[in-house]
Amino acid sequence: MENITTVFKEKKLKLTPQRIAVYKYLQSTKEHPSAELIYKALQPTYPTMSLATVYKALKTLISVELIIELNVGEGNFRYDCNMKPHPHIQCVNCGKVDDIEGISFSNVLEDVKQYTNYDVIATRLYFYGLCENCKK
Ligand SMILES: [Zn+2]
Ligand SMILES: [Zn+2]
Repeated sequence: MENITTVFKEKKLKLTPQRIAVYKYLQSTKEHPSAELIYKALQPTYPTMSLATVYKALKTLISVELIIELNVGEGNFRYDCNMKPHPHIQCVNCGKVDDIEGISFSNVLEDVKQYTNYDVIATRLYFYGLCENCKK
């Protein structure tokens, strides 16, 4: 919470209850929810909040680098407040997205630099598979 208050103050942005609610929800889950899912989850507490407001809150949170947007393909966006670079794996059957923790990709980044003249500033790594539930 301190984090979001400081960041919004620094950027001179208004910290609305909706923005806090969206951020808090993302902090409470590891599910990498879509905007629709966040909207539905917040409905009982914020009945007047529209899906458009959720989208706007997400955009703002992305712009101040508190969350990231994951494009898991076909215009399917998920949101994550874990800002530590980490790869993701998605189930091709149910669409579930999980973090892959404990793997270091610093070697890959070093390797990539040998094959390009670009200054590499970011990377997104996705893996696809069948989750535990869908394997059954
Ligand atoms: Zn699955
Ligand atoms: Zn993640």
